[in-house]
Amino acid sequence: ASQTPALADLQAQATAAPEHHDAFWMPFTANRQFKKSPRLLASAEGMYYRSTDGREILDGTAGLWCVNAGHGHPHIVQAIQKQAATLDYAPTFQMGHPLPFVLAERLAKLAPDPLKHVFYTNSGSESVDTALKIALAYHRVRGEGQRTRLIGREKGYHGVGFGGISVGGMVNNRKFFGPMLPGVDHLPHTLDIARNGFSRGLPAHGAELANELERLVALHDASTIAAVIIEPVSGSAGVVLPPEGYLRRIREICDKHGILLIFDEVITGFGRVGEAFAAQRFGVVPDLITTAKGLSNGAVPMGAVFATSAIHDAFMHGPEGAIELFHGYTYSGHPLACAAALATLDVYEGEGLFQRAIELGPYWEQAIHALKDLPNVVDIRNFGLVGAVELAARPEGAGLRGYEVFNRAFFEQNLMVRCTGDVIALSPPLILNKEHIDRIFDRLAATIRATA
Ligand code: PMP
Repeated sequence: ASQTPALADLQAQATAAPEHHDAFWMPFTANRQFKKSPRLLASAEGMYYRSTDGREILDGTAGLWCVNAGHGHPHIVQAIQKQAATLDYAPTFQMGHPLPFVLAERLAKLAPDPLKHVFYTNSGSESVDTALKIALAYHRVRGEGQRTRLIGREKGYHGVGFGGISVGGMVNNRKFFGPMLPGVDHLPHTLDIARNGFSRGLPAHGAELANELERLVALHDASTIAAVIIEPVSGSAGVVLPPEGYLRRIREICDKHGILLIFDEVITGFGRVGEAFAAQRFGVVPDLITTAKGLSNGAVPMGAVFATSAIHDAFMHGPEGAIELFHGYTYSGHPLACAAALATLDVYEGEGLFQRAIELGPYWEQAIHALKDLPNVVDIRNFGLVGAVELAARPEGAGLRGYEVFNRAFFEQNLMVRCTGDVIALSPPLILNKEHIDRIFDRLAATIRATA
């Protein structure tokens, strides 16, 4: 008989005995606090997690913005199981297997024209580094190798690779890890509660902030700038929305100066804002799109970078037999990830999930803005099926109010939300209905009242 304990026994062990919690150094977590009152999830189905102490937790965040088709969808589960038994792994360096080709063709149909080429990664961070590297290499293969400068934004989140934190603009993610990539500059963020507080949908004020790109072009000279990277709607920095007209203006300035525009759609890709990509929803087409998360419904790690034909084709002119791009991952186009993604796309299409944010958007907006008069609420933001409630900060050292809401929501209201500083963020699975929306905001309102 096997000496290996059953999974259920291991889970019970992890739940019952805090001494089993020490070895795991948890990512982006207050480890010491967590280990005093662990929040542990055991299983999931549809809109709900089940915690190890047996409670049903309503998932207000689609895991970490990734489980767009809901948890444990049988079609996705079966596809992964079947693939694991058929072809567990195959390299995609100098050889291949059929799935990534089939998937890329399907993805290319979803993406806006002319982004018809797909490079696979395993995460959002890897997608960002891949896109930045493609941008630099693209200029070089075209004889413009002096274009090396990258431009991000304040409050930007582009994952945790050195490329991503260099163009990113969240101070805590950067300050310990200097000096990072040279030749990076940042545009200002667009969060302006004084002018746009409690706006519904896109904020009316702030499109002129895009002109800051002209200032950076004048400062550095266009001939040194490779790319600008922007989250159309940012999530991790606390849900920051693009002012009406802002993205269009950024596109115009990039076009004028031969600068590539990268949209980081790790959060907005795959239906979060009512179309396959935010690019389509906003009618602004970038040169590269980074994705991950919803691509495989979070069930198997996977990311992908979409590139225009102009970028892809620029690499295809060297000697036959020479590698065009010296970049890739052991697990690029992994069979399990491809199987999960193909099944996920079936579900998105079959269940019409990309349209859900349009259908439910007005109800979602109404429901989140009904929290306006609760204590300590200083702003509410929403777009598509994304929402944020910003709470007043407590004095230094008093602990984050946002964190208390997050913790109480989990333990007292059986609701999963996200907190970034004092911003409570929501991004539910796209399968939710109006009752789920009511339940999310009833529970969140009760939690905010409890922390008053
Ligand atoms: N870019 C954006 C816009 C993201 O929101 C995230 C993750 N929240 C990432 C990149 C990084 O993705 P990952 O954690 O999969 O590396």
